[in-house]
Amino acid sequence: MFSPWVEAEAERHQKLGHVPVSVLRQRYDWRFVADPDEPVELEDTDPKDQPVLAAAVEAGAHFVVTGNVKDFGEQDLARLGIVAVHPGLFLTHHITAETYREVLEAVGASRGREPRDPLSIHEQEISVHLPSLFETHRDLFGSAVPDTTHEPPAVEVRGNRCVRCFGALIDGRGSVVVLCPACSGGAIHRA
Ligand SMILES: [Zn+2]
Repeated sequence: MFSPWVEAEAERHQKLGHVPVSVLRQRYDWRFVADPDEPVELEDTDPKDQPVLAAAVEAGAHFVVTGNVKDFGEQDLARLGIVAVHPGLFLTHHITAETYREVLEAVGASRGREPRDPLSIHEQEISVHLPSLFETHRDLFGSAVPDTTHEPPAVEVRGNRCVRCFGALIDGRGSVVVLCPACSGGAIHRA
């Protein structure tokens, strides 16, 4: 899902040297979702994130992948049937170890600066920005030492659906349960 407002916000948060979101949109032919005529009513989502959630509803999206899960309201997400999830946790359940290895090797090979080897990228960057993904594949490249100067996100997931298959959760609740029984072979409760 995408909307002009979300694009502008995303670009505002981009760092120097990143490919602007509007360029990616044109390159990959992402379509804008029309801003809704009658915006969905939201109650406990932070006002600055309400346009994001409204665009997700308009697009029929199941997931909002965001570094800022805590600002998406539990009630709004449950009522709309949308899961807000941190990219690290989302990728943990949507890519394999093999894909993860391939991506880090490709990133390292295409870079002109350090870190370039997969273990260092894993330790210095993934552990900071995508901590769940780091933990899941912790020793994939050998014994890894995470960057501990950064706090992991306070809330990684909200919503009442499975992060992997979007199926119903065993007790209909999110926040502590991430996967449905079929995906977890029993409920997985997060520490
Ligand atoms: Zn599932």
